Amino acid sequence: MQRPARARSSPLNTSGRRVQGGQVIGQTWPRAVIFVDGEALTSASADGWFIVGFDRDAPASVRIEAREGTRAAEAVLTIARGEFATSRIDGLPQSTVTPDDPELLARIQREAALKAAAYASRADGAHFRDGFDWPLDDIRVSSAWGGQRVLNGTPARPHYGVDLAAPEGTAIRAPAAGLVTLAQPAMHFEGGLVLIDHGQGLISAYLHQSRLDVSEGQTLRRGDLIGAVGATGRATGPHLCWRLRWRDRNLDPSLLVGASRS
Ligand SMILES: [Zn+2]
Repeated sequence: MQRPARARSSPLNTSGRRVQGGQVIGQTWPRAVIFVDGEALTSASADGWFIVGFDRDAPASVRIEAREGTRAAEAVLTIARGEFATSRIDGLPQSTVTPDDPELLARIQREAALKAAAYASRADGAHFRDGFDWPLDDIRVSSAWGGQRVLNGTPARPHYGVDLAAPEGTAIRAPAAGLVTLAQPAMHFEGGLVLIDHGQGLISAYLHQSRLDVSEGQTLRRGDLIGAVGATGRATGPHLCWRLRWRDRNLDPSLLVGASRS
C-alpha cells in the first residue's frame, strides 16, 4: 500500500509506543543513519522510514538523531516504565528447563546458531510502517510480555513473548509483509518456529507451531498464512508465543498492533 510522502518540513518525525518494550516508527531523510543515545544503530529505508525499539530496561529518556551528509536532526523521547508481572509455570518437561544431556546440549547449541543467523538478517525495507495486525483472528492473551518467570520452580529469563491461547490448528497469519529467515518444524525449545524479517532490523517470531506453511527465503504479504498453532517445544498446551526483536533488543509485538502512522 503506497502512502503519499509526508511533509518534509520536519526532517525527523517519530510516533509510536514510548514505553519499555515499545517502539517508535520514524521518517527522515532517505538512507539517513540513525543514532540512538550516540550510537549508530540503524538507517532509514530508501523512502526514509526507520524503527527504534526500547527494551525492557530502556532508560527514562532516549535521544534519537538522524544524520545524512552534513545534515542532522534530533529528538529526545521520554520512555514510560513498563509493568511486568511474575508468573510461575509448573509441569514443563524438565529437559526444557534444565537440560543436561550432552547430546541435547549440542543440539541446543546448533539450534542457537541457526536462530542467531536468522536474527542477523537485515532486509532493506519498512514493512512495519503501517503497524502490525494480530497474527490470529481471536485474541486471548494468556501470558503478557516481559513477565519474570519461574519455570518448574527455577527462576528464568523474563518472558519475551506474548502468549495467545488458541486451539491446536488455528491459522497463524503474517502481521505485516516480510521475508522468512527461519522455518524449522522441531526446535527443542520453540518447537515449530518461523522468523520473519520486516526490514530495518525488525524481526518477528512464531513459536510452538503444529504445522509450518512457509519456507526459508519466502516473501510474505500481510495476512499470508504462516502455519498453525500447536504445543510443540517448551509448552504445556496449545498457544502461539509471539515475539519481536529490533536488532538485539526484545520488544513487545502487541505494541505494534494498530500502530499505523496515518
Ligand atoms: Zn511465550
